Amino acid sequence: SSSPSPSVQFGEKYVTAGLSRSLNAVVEKGEGSYLFVEDGRKMLDFTCGIGVTNLGHCHPRISAAAAKQCMEVVHMQCSIAFHPPYLKLIEKVLPLMPDPSLNSFFWWNSGSEAIEAAIKIARTATGRQNIISMQGAYHGRTFGAMAVTKSKTVYSEGVHPLMPGVYTLPYPYWHHFGLPPSTPSSQLSSLCLAQLDLLLKQQTAPRDTAAILIETVLGEGGYIPAPPEFLRGLREVCDKHGILLIIDEVQCGYGRAGKQFAIEYSGVRPDIMTIAKGLANGFPLSGVISRKEITDKLKAGSMGGTYAGNAVACAAACEVVDVMREEKVLENVNERSQELFTALNALRNNPKLAPCILDVRGQGLMVAVEFASPVGTGAHDPFVNPSVPKSLASRIAKRCQEKGMLILTTSVYEVIRFIPPLNITKEDLAKGCQIFKKAVEEVVR
Ligand code: PMP
Repeated sequence: SSSPSPSVQFGEKYVTAGLSRSLNAVVEKGEGSYLFVEDGRKMLDFTCGIGVTNLGHCHPRISAAAAKQCMEVVHMQCSIAFHPPYLKLIEKVLPLMPDPSLNSFFWWNSGSEAIEAAIKIARTATGRQNIISMQGAYHGRTFGAMAVTKSKTVYSEGVHPLMPGVYTLPYPYWHHFGLPPSTPSSQLSSLCLAQLDLLLKQQTAPRDTAAILIETVLGEGGYIPAPPEFLRGLREVCDKHGILLIIDEVQCGYGRAGKQFAIEYSGVRPDIMTIAKGLANGFPLSGVISRKEITDKLKAGSMGGTYAGNAVACAAACEVVDVMREEKVLENVNERSQELFTALNALRNNPKLAPCILDVRGQGLMVAVEFASPVGTGAHDPFVNPSVPKSLASRIAKRCQEKGMLILTTSVYEVIRFIPPLNITKEDLAKGCQIFKKAVEEVVR
């Protein structure tokens, strides 16, 4: 389309080439489910800044709580003293924990940092080194988090060696076994658990294995909920060998997958859980939560960070808990989720589009559509359909942008992910589905 605005051109000149953008524009304002671009466009936001502004942009109550905190205390370094919202937030999220054993908190800034802390806690508490993480996993861009990230090489390309002691297990995703999308999840779970058994016999002995790390819903790897039987299988193996189970709920937690935490679908108890993103609806805040017996093994002073658990972010996060409860946000997620699945499955039932759509999946408002690929991921990919246009998912996302909706792709496959606000209205969700449908029809045509 037209050439970038002068402000974007300035950004392109002075901001690192290492940063890429889905929308090459400057967003000046966000309000609820909408973004306002400097050129006057109003766009429906189905990204929530990658699952962060879950209660909409600039929710008046959350912004007000942050503004109020700004007049009280902004920064109280956590190694110097507590500040009130640091403790109040623990009080508010304690009853939300998926298991009452999760009773030891550390507030950090980002998801990556929470993962770094989780690895540190697991190594310290077990006295073991190795970490098993999942194929397709994304845990962040810092060095430890990068080492356990297995979704795309771009995050670590050219900067190896990474943190040692990391082993990879296939995730119960049909692609990882070259099986068709219709493969039952129980079969995929069994295949992965058998691989885990081998991994512990062939590559990393239980006595060297500190933790198994998993996203309850694989995010950047393609929006795939972990089957409950797989999570229960991991729990059993961990219990048997004294390995800790680290559950990464950074993206799928906090209502995104239709429950407070996605791990609730399985009833599995995490030993360590990481949260971030929706926690403070846009203020930088993450948390690593574990059991007191585990974190009591840490040396005083081993955890900390200048900005960790910022007071304004914690105050915003306290308000998030209240808004979610009072505005019945989880109910909305589950109602809108059904409507979203109905709309996406209707596309799949359209005979013209059916050959292009491999899968519709997800939980709550963390939903993906996977398209067939004309190219595939390699010479042996069985899911190649030469009649499908190239880079289908990116082209559909671009077409949605032209029609006034921001939406993202994910994974190395042709996947579009839906991350609308958790409090999106029925009307706005229907509008987004309509835009998506038109975009798919135009691109696939
Ligand atoms: N874990 C998961 C599951 C994530 O989705 C992300 C971010 N996409 C991270 C960790 C890293 O979080 P951050 O970008 O805040 O460092």
